[in-house]
Amino acid sequence: MEIQKKSGFVTLIGRPNVGKSTLMNTLIGQKIAITSKKPQTTRNRIQTVYTDERGQIVFLDTPGIHKAKNKLGDYMVTVAKRTMEDVDVVIWLVEPTNFIGAGEKAIVEKLKTCNTPVILVINKIDTVKREEILGFIDTYRKEMEFDEIVPLSALKKDNTDCLIECIYKYLPYGLPFYDEDTITDQPERAIVAEYIREKALRTLEEEIPHGIAVVIDQMKYEKKVCHIDATIICEKDSHKGIIIGKQGAMLKKIGSQARYEIEKLLDCKVNLQLWVKVKKDWRDSDYLLKNFGYNPLDME
Ligand code: GDP
Ligand code: MG
Repeated sequence: MEIQKKSGFVTLIGRPNVGKSTLMNTLIGQKIAITSKKPQTTRNRIQTVYTDERGQIVFLDTPGIHKAKNKLGDYMVTVAKRTMEDVDVVIWLVEPTNFIGAGEKAIVEKLKTCNTPVILVINKIDTVKREEILGFIDTYRKEMEFDEIVPLSALKKDNTDCLIECIYKYLPYGLPFYDEDTITDQPERAIVAEYIREKALRTLEEEIPHGIAVVIDQMKYEKKVCHIDATIICEKDSHKGIIIGKQGAMLKKIGSQARYEIEKLLDCKVNLQLWVKVKKDWRDSDYLLKNFGYNPLDME
């Protein structure tokens, strides 16, 4: 019997030097997956993809916390609320300390307003005595109610598997966003496909519930413009009509909304061409499922 897998998005926040990069490296190091560090796309939201037998965790980079130049507080939180609402889990990485500064308080206020499960990770426990850890947990617990609290050492790989386990608890069942066997240099393809799908679902509202997939047929950069051909796949001819809309109005709406988001993601102009194709029972197609939202699709 097929084991149900989970997949979803996680964002990691925390002040500089708390160990975010180290944690990423540790998590990815222990189970190899995809890393995307493309220097020309630093604003790319995606950072790392962790895949194992349980499923797939996509860590999104939140360029969240910057040192502030103003006098109040030592740093400022600019976590995009949208990102926190869009992911399945928010991880807040902190130092093992009993001192909660103004910066931390600001983060707590942000976290309290978001409906996403929050996992507090107390990093660097290798630098403190075991018996001190409970005290730190209590200190943070007084600030807000966390869904999970995981003390760990990213550097020493201590208890990091517990974090992965905790994350999976909050992820929905679903197909991986990336092909597990592929180490891709273009993970933004999958995100682009997901953006288009999201815009399509929102625009179509309840008319075609979730019976669509999006594949990126082509994505190429030319003179600072990214040209994208994408196909929305639906299950019925009648759905195709709805997606296209009167004189293409619906498709145009989906396209322009998606393009706006993709331009922000890729940080460049985007020329998006959308197509609609009917493929009955696409959900049963091994090929399509395996390449879901990722590889070009041969539609013959
Ligand atoms: P970031 O700014 O949040 O990405 O933090 P980094 O990952 O760059 O880590 C900042 C510093 O903290 C580095 O010198 C790391 O080696 C150190 N560090 C990160 N995690 C741990 C840990 O679990 N234990 C100890 N002792 N040091 C850590
Ligand atoms: Mg870093």
